Amino acid sequence: MIKCNYHTHTTFCDGKNTPEELVLEAIRLGCAEIGFSGHSYTFFDESYCMSLDATQNYKDEIRRLKEKYGERIRIYLGIEQDYYASEPTDDYDYVIGSVHYVKKDGVYLPIDESMESQKEIVERYYCGDYYSFVEDYYRTVSDVYQKTKCDIVGHFDLITIYNDGNTLFDTDDKRYRDACFGALEMLEKEAVAFEINTGAIARGYKKDVYPSDEIIERLKKANKKLVFSSDCHDVKNLLFGYDICLKKVEKREI
Ligand SMILES: [Zn+2]
Ligand SMILES: [Zn+2]
Repeated sequence: MIKCNYHTHTTFCDGKNTPEELVLEAIRLGCAEIGFSGHSYTFFDESYCMSLDATQNYKDEIRRLKEKYGERIRIYLGIEQDYYASEPTDDYDYVIGSVHYVKKDGVYLPIDESMESQKEIVERYYCGDYYSFVEDYYRTVSDVYQKTKCDIVGHFDLITIYNDGNTLFDTDDKRYRDACFGALEMLEKEAVAFEINTGAIARGYKKDVYPSDEIIERLKKANKKLVFSSDCHDVKNLLFGYDICLKKVEKREI
């Protein structure tokens, strides 16, 4: 079993636990390493991210923990860099590049605030055309490597967060598929890893991981590196659902 997580949020942003609590849990679980990935500062929405002051304190604290626990576990200082964040990432050991907003008519529209918010956005900014919203999302995703120079692409198909059972849009629709696989084609060319992210299952939004099985199969065929991630916001979910991820990467046919 793979025991490490690089997508970890703490009290410096919207996570429930301190970095030290997470390090201690990782040691208890026998992890060889843990990476922290606080939400980068986004000036247009401060509700979930690290403030600029908190960002400095976060760096200091992770470095302190590296010193304190260095003999027991490898600790990495990372960042989950939003597409629209503008703070530099040079100080970090690695970068997760994530799209949490699309920008339309100068307004930053959140992807994963709530299902109601998504529906309102589509009505108000896209005249009810969900696929236009989807197209804007994947257009932004297709550029996430260029913009953030990330090592790992975060939750590639986050747009499906509230779409279990195709309740909002049909992922078999040509417009969805063209947008989604167009973005994938762009990113596949880059030396970047992709997450298999269980966070939405842990938080009750989805029954399955990001990205979809079809996307995972395609990434496997393209020999892309896949990284298991719990998108941890709560210490009890540090390695949540890795058995599910493992089944998806192993070609286990029963
Ligand atoms: Zn994210
Ligand atoms: Zn995250």
